[in-house]
Amino acid sequence: MATVTYECPDDPDGCLRATSPGFCTRHPAAELEAVRVTAFADAPAAEPASVPIEASVATAQLNLRFRDRVLPIPPSGMDIGRECGPLADLPGMAELTQVSRQHAKVYPLNGHLYVKDADSLNHTYVDGRLVETPRRLRAGQVLRLGLDVELHVEAAEFDEFGLPL
Ligand SMILES: [Zn+2]
Repeated sequence: MATVTYECPDDPDGCLRATSPGFCTRHPAAELEAVRVTAFADAPAAEPASVPIEASVATAQLNLRFRDRVLPIPPSGMDIGRECGPLADLPGMAELTQVSRQHAKVYPLNGHLYVKDADSLNHTYVDGRLVETPRRLRAGQVLRLGLDVELHVEAAEFDEFGLPL
């Protein structure tokens, strides 16, 4: 009998894990996500197998907004930093010394987008909380690089032809 472990996407390390789907007791809006399958509950410790990835690209469509610029996140993810990804092309970016050359990475997993810090000097935050382990990105969050560079996570909107607005 395989056991699936579920954890809170908002604070995977701080919140209780569960063996059945549901919502986090600390974050009632956070739906627990399946993270690993153990083949037999009583089997000797084995390498946890990953839950099969539903899709290699994200189905969640999100943009990052930096000041007045909208930066679409490709379904395959992207790097974020002073010298990589879409931020590198923005005017004035080179002066933002809080941002590392490669600061963070956004990547898809199981249809969702996650962010992880890329060993940046000044760290990455989601809604003011330090990103120590990968965190799921959701519309409405503020992704912060260092102390003062704020990227607003927004839902991408599409026209009737499926093209980004
Ligand atoms: Zn939680």
